[in-house]
Amino acid sequence: MNERNLKMGHEHENHQEEKEKIWREQEPIFEKIQQEGGFSNYVQSLKNLEDAFHTGHDIHCIDEGTPGGIHSAGSGILMSREEAVKAFKEAGVTGVTSHEGCGAAKLYAIEKELDPEKADEYGEQWAKELAIALNVPYEGHMTSEQMARPESFHIARVAYYDGTGKFDYSATEGLPPGFIISRKFIGETEAEKEIGIAESIAMGDHGFGDLITEENPFLIVVIGDSEASTAKLKQEIENISHNYGKRIKVDSFVAPEHKR
Ligand SMILES: [Zn+2]
Repeated sequence: MNERNLKMGHEHENHQEEKEKIWREQEPIFEKIQQEGGFSNYVQSLKNLEDAFHTGHDIHCIDEGTPGGIHSAGSGILMSREEAVKAFKEAGVTGVTSHEGCGAAKLYAIEKELDPEKADEYGEQWAKELAIALNVPYEGHMTSEQMARPESFHIARVAYYDGTGKFDYSATEGLPPGFIISRKFIGETEAEKEIGIAESIAMGDHGFGDLITEENPFLIVVIGDSEASTAKLKQEIENISHNYGKRIKVDSFVAPEHKR
């Protein structure tokens, strides 16, 4: 157990309080989403929804703390090198990032039977090597201070399953923070795995955990370029077997037309 884990153990109660505080702060948005009958109507009420669709092409993690750019778990660390290079070349990637406290890098360490305490190093190393393979700059290792969430836990009640490859919840007001999986550029099997990671983080000790219930479920929000592509991606998500029963709900909306 490293120092951080020990620290987290001791401060567990405090984190619960912090989590509940952030949960309550997010509550008005989720109440409104529910009142509107889902994201599709809710996003119509946002003034600048178009701003949530960007043109950045740096690779970021799916972590809600690293919004902007193209998203894959650990910047693709769970894919094979060949698979990642192919996917990101096609996406026109312009840079690669890594970040502190990456859950995907930790999973990678466990899968490869490496030291999970060195997960950050593996994440950074992967991103640097991927940048070289793609012939684009490595844009750096984002520290906890630079991330859009607290250092010790996740604040996502949502995972965005983004068929546009352009979505950034943080670029406009009124969208809840969430994991972002750039399905546009990532194959179905990998995307399915990444949704599973988002769900298990959100439901676990590092996420909102027990605060997520059938009444207040974790939302997987599909975003498509058109009605047809949104429906197709929604079907894809509904076909995945989710571990958490009715604590997971699938929702969707179509991206604004001139940003498609
Ligand atoms: Zn990460």
